[in-house]
Amino acid sequence: MITLNLKEIFESRDNFSKSYILKPSDIKLPSELGEIKEETFVNVNIRKVKGGYAIDLEIESGIYLECSRCLEVYRKEVEQSSARKLENPSHEREIFLSEKDLNVSFMEEPDILNLTELVREELILSVPMKPLCSPTCSGINPGVVEDYKQSPADPRFAILKSLFAEKEVSE
Ligand SMILES: [Zn+2]
Repeated sequence: MITLNLKEIFESRDNFSKSYILKPSDIKLPSELGEIKEETFVNVNIRKVKGGYAIDLEIESGIYLECSRCLEVYRKEVEQSSARKLENPSHEREIFLSEKDLNVSFMEEPDILNLTELVREELILSVPMKPLCSPTCSGINPGVVEDYKQSPADPRFAILKSLFAEKEVSE
């Protein structure tokens, strides 16, 4: 896990940039969401601002997701940039979050940034509500569905079907 002591870092400078490579084992996603099987590349830039820190993150990775239509697992390329403001936890005042504050995160410990957790959050946010292996995914292989229709498990359906077929012919 990568944690940055921002207080120490900003004692000697007012701008911090660094690149990191996170191993798949560093970033565990909830299994129902997807899986990371490759290294994640992260560029981070941090500036001290009033009330906290401004963070720019660039993340490159790949997430293995299950397509919501055909249920096949596919790799989704992730290439995203985000900007966030980090504030120290506040016990003195109640915190009201408005919509424009949604990209404000609070540090669990003063001036300590858990970069791994921040990257993990961004990756989770990048997973679509209904993942699709391709925009034109036609769903479960139609061949499989047809086979199922042609051989109903219950033989009574076959008899009913032939009765209807006869009726159609006689009309
Ligand atoms: Zn699909």
